Order: sequence, then C-alpha cells, then structure tokens
Amino acid sequence: MSQTELFASPSVPPTPDRQAGLERLKAFTPLMGRRYAAQRNFDFGAEDRTNISVLSAHVRHRLVLESELAQAALSAHGLQAAEKFIQEVCWRTYWKGWLELRPSRWSEYRSELSQALSALGEDDALRRRYDAAQEGRTGLECFDAWVGELRTTGYLHNHARMWFASIWIYTLDLPWVLGADLFLRHLIDGDPASNTLGWRWVGGLQTVGKTYLARASNIEKYTGGRFTPEAGALAQDAPPLDAALEHPAPQTLAAGQAPDPDAPALIWLHEEDLHPESWAVDELDVRAVAYQAQPLARGDLALGECAARFTQQALIDGAQRAGAYFGRIAQAAADIDAVIDTARSVGAKHVVTQRPAVGPGQDQMAEYRAALARADLTLIEMRRPWDAAFHPHATKGFFKFKSAIPSVFDQLHLN
Ligand SMILES: Cc1cc2nc3c(=O)[nH]c(=O)nc-3n(C[C@H](O)[C@H](O)[C@H](O)COP(=O)(O)OP(=O)(O)OC[C@H]3O[C@@H](n4cnc5c(N)ncnc54)[C@H](O)[C@@H]3O)c2cc1C
Repeated sequence: MSQTELFASPSVPPTPDRQAGLERLKAFTPLMGRRYAAQRNFDFGAEDRTNISVLSAHVRHRLVLESELAQAALSAHGLQAAEKFIQEVCWRTYWKGWLELRPSRWSEYRSELSQALSALGEDDALRRRYDAAQEGRTGLECFDAWVGELRTTGYLHNHARMWFASIWIYTLDLPWVLGADLFLRHLIDGDPASNTLGWRWVGGLQTVGKTYLARASNIEKYTGGRFTPEAGALAQDAPPLDAALEHPAPQTLAAGQAPDPDAPALIWLHEEDLHPESWAVDELDVRAVAYQAQPLARGDLALGECAARFTQQALIDGAQRAGAYFGRIAQAAADIDAVIDTARSVGAKHVVTQRPAVGPGQDQMAEYRAALARADLTLIEMRRPWDAAFHPHATKGFFKFKSAIPSVFDQLHLN
C-alpha cells in the first residue's frame, strides 16, 4: 500500500455497503497499532479522518463484524500493540452487553424522553434553548459547528461527542435525553446502547463518581486549534445528574436458538445484522429471504437524513448479498404481515433471524414474535458467538470486562 493510500482520509459519510467497509478496514489495518493509541483522541475535522477508522456505522449494522476488526488488528499488530484499538471495539460490545443485561434502562430512557418532549410544549424558555442548540444557533462556535457536522455527515468524532454531550448538559442546561435523542436519530452509527450509555456516562448516571466536563483548553488542543472557546463560555463544573446511583441487577441473557435443518425456513434480515453469509445456516432448507423495507424509527421524531439514507442502502446491500448467497431473490417486507405472507407462500415453517439488541429493534421484535406465534410460525432468534461469549462479562464496569478479552478471544479462536 502506498503512503498516499495509507493516509487517505475516508469519505464521511462512508458508502453504506460491505465492500466499502472491507476496503476501509483494509486501508486502516496498518494504522490500528500504537499510532492509533497516540492519535485517536485528535479531532482534525471532517476532511481528515486518517487517525480513526470511521467504521462504526458499518459495524453498527454488521456490514462488517466486530470479530473482523479484532482479527485484522491482531494479525497486523498483535494484542499488545493493538490493545487500544481492540479495547475501543470492545467498548461497543461492553455497552451492548450491559444494556442486554439491564433492558429497563432503555425503557426508562424512552419514557424520560417522552416527558422531556412534552415539556418542550409547555416551557417556552426550554423550547428556545433546545431549538437554538439543535439548530446550531447557540453562539458557541465549536458546538454550532458540530451540530452542522452531525446533520450534514451523520458522524462526529468520539471526542466531539463527549464535548458536545457535556456542553449540552452542563453549559446549555438541557435535558440529557433530548441530546441523546438528537444523536440517535442523526448519527449513521446511532446505537441504543453506545449512545444512551455514553450520554449517561457524561452526565454521571453510569459510573459512580464520574462525569465529563468539556474544557476549553482540551477542545483547543485536540481540535488542533480549529476551535478556541473562551474558558468562561463553558460550564466550570459537572455535578452528577443524580447522586443516588443504583443500577438494576443484571438479568439472565436470552440464549440463542438453533434452527431446525429439516424445517423449511424463511430468512428474516433486519438492520441490526446485515451479514447473513456468516450466520452459519448453510444446512438450512431456505425457501425465501425477506428483508426490512424501511429503516426503523429511533424515537418519536424523524430519523435524520444521513442516518435514513445509510440504513436504507445498507439494507439493500444486505438483501442483495443474501439473495445471491441463498439463491433466492430477497423480498422487501414492510411489516410482519408481509413476512408471514411470504413464509406461507413458500411453505416455510420457521422464520430465522438474528436476535436484535435492546432498543428499537428488540421493541419491534416483541410485536413480531406475537404475530408470528398467532400465524403458527416458529421464530428462531440466533445469537452470534461474539455476543454470546462477551455479553455475560458485562455485569460490572469496563475494567472487569476488558480483563476477559484474551480468554474470550481464545474461545472465539481469534489470534
Ligand atoms: C455521547 C456519546 C454518544 C455515542 N453514540 C454512539 C452511537 O450512537 N453509536 C456508536 O457506534 N458509537 C457511539 N459512541 C461511541 C464512539 O464515539 C463511536 O463509536 C466512535 O466515535 C466511532 O468512530 P470510529 O468508527 O472512527 O471509531 P474508532 O476509534 O476507529 O474505533 C473502532 C470501533 O470501536 C468502536 N468504538 C470506538 N470508540 C467507542 C466508544 N467510546 N464506545 C463504543 N464503541 C466505540 C466503534 O464500533 C468503532 O467503529 C458515542 C460516544 C459518546 C461519548
């Protein structure tokens, strides 16, 4: 790979298909070692994303898999030199596992969000502050620029997400759930676990004694001087939003189900997992493939344009590959009735899918489960070995979780 190719910045938003994700993975692999650890915190702006992978949206929809990122980093650099990159990939897995074990945190977020949206109709001052923030009219140059970047690219650097959330909560004095909702609807990688728990962490709702305060000097340093906010323009302290922090006890994880190779099956593809080639279902009698026709809503307000476009095209890419892989034309299904009709038309008895994570995907699946049972169709929700091996370790903090990485990698034969 030439120097120019090695340090080429990816386009943002990236192309929403597996091929583009794999190309970016290949280009970024040589940079996943110590260079990543040293440089990843710098936000050089949307035109220069050479120091980070920008693969989160592909990973979010499983166009590219966590295991593929981890394997690439291990093969090129080894566990020690790629430790930081691998840990970041595992942060994603940790948040997802943590929420799987405590799904009530998602329902709480949803009801707190409904209340905050209702409050906007009753409190004019709050509404004005919210509108100025979400439209990028606060007068804080860095914050307004990040709102523009979020809306036009669907992506923000991790450090910018932390500064943004901190300023939203502590400087602009806005409810955290409204900021989390703005992110979730606009980010192309919008993820119920990483996003909800990332916002909770900034506001001191996730880790006892931890909040995140955005400091002017830190913003100036890590944006390479692109932004130089006045220190006095930002909040000076970040008290936890709720001092009495007690998490619900972890619940038992649902085990993955195994499809019956003798039962005619319909493959159901949704936006949470768009790599059916690795579902290990080669022995199944696949009679049809159906895929989710539209991106799922991520809240009561509209999905951002970039997020909607990315998800829609990712679904089409997944459907085309699934069609080629199973030798069946994938049918777009607007709702569960369409899935049931397709299954019946080909004599399928099983609807085989990957269990969606806690969030809008799991909320929808709860309805689908009931409708399929009424139609006398068996729903098989598989779980990927990566999730099944990692999620049980997300019972406490990340420190404990990360100590399990080497043994889980052994279990998954990653080396
Ligand atoms: C308030 C807040 C909200 C966030 N919301 C989301 C979200 O909705 N969806 C989302 O995918 N990430 C979210 N993140 C995590 C993180 O910012 C992004 O995953 C990361 O910026 C993606 O860029 P990248 O692919 O270049 O990451 P890289 O630095 O190249 O990291 C490689 C991969 O590791 C994972 N990763 C990296 N950092 C984190 C992290 N801190 N937490 C979890 N996973 C991580 C991502 O899958 C990423 O693709 C949020 C962080 C904060 C602070």
